[in-house]
Amino acid sequence: MDYKEYVKIVEDWPKEGIKFKDITPLMDNGKAYKSAIDEIVSYAKEKQVDIIVGPEARGFIIGCPVSYALEIGFAPVRKEGKLPREVIKVEYGLEYGSNVLTIHKDAIKPGQRVLITDDLLATGGTIEATIKLVEELGGIVVGCAFIIELSYLDGMDKLKGYDVLRLMSY
Ligand code: 5GP
Repeated sequence: MDYKEYVKIVEDWPKEGIKFKDITPLMDNGKAYKSAIDEIVSYAKEKQVDIIVGPEARGFIIGCPVSYALEIGFAPVRKEGKLPREVIKVEYGLEYGSNVLTIHKDAIKPGQRVLITDDLLATGGTIEATIKLVEELGGIVVGCAFIIELSYLDGMDKLKGYDVLRLMSY
């Protein structure tokens, strides 16, 4: 399926110079959304995944239906202060300032095969931080799945040695 017809490019959002890729039209279309999720489900089956991990908020939109389809768990990665129990955290740099991501300490069991999902790979900072959290808990990152890769931001450089599924690239 050509998913690009379901992505709207929003100029100068959230700030000037950025061409934001809006995936909500893809989610709006039941057939396109299902087709994208089905591709990630097949990938997860191939990789014999035990659990899905996704960073808030769009990582949930991709990861949760995959978990449901495979009857496996989903562990959310959230910004600091959002998860109610004991967490581990990682700080990573943004263009301006930094961000902290957290995961519940008991979300992953050592040795579990983990697939990380998000809607989009840009600079790779979010996925790199999520990988750190999973690995600190002893999980094995067997794959990362994205709907979109922005290849001009070189996020793949941060994913050397990891298997990556991308449904489309800009
Ligand atoms: P990175 O950390 O790779 O630079 O940025 C990726 C994260 O930012 C993802 O969690 C993604 O949801 C969000 N993001 C950055 N740019 C875009 C964009 O153009 N469209 C969408 N849908 N998400 C974006």
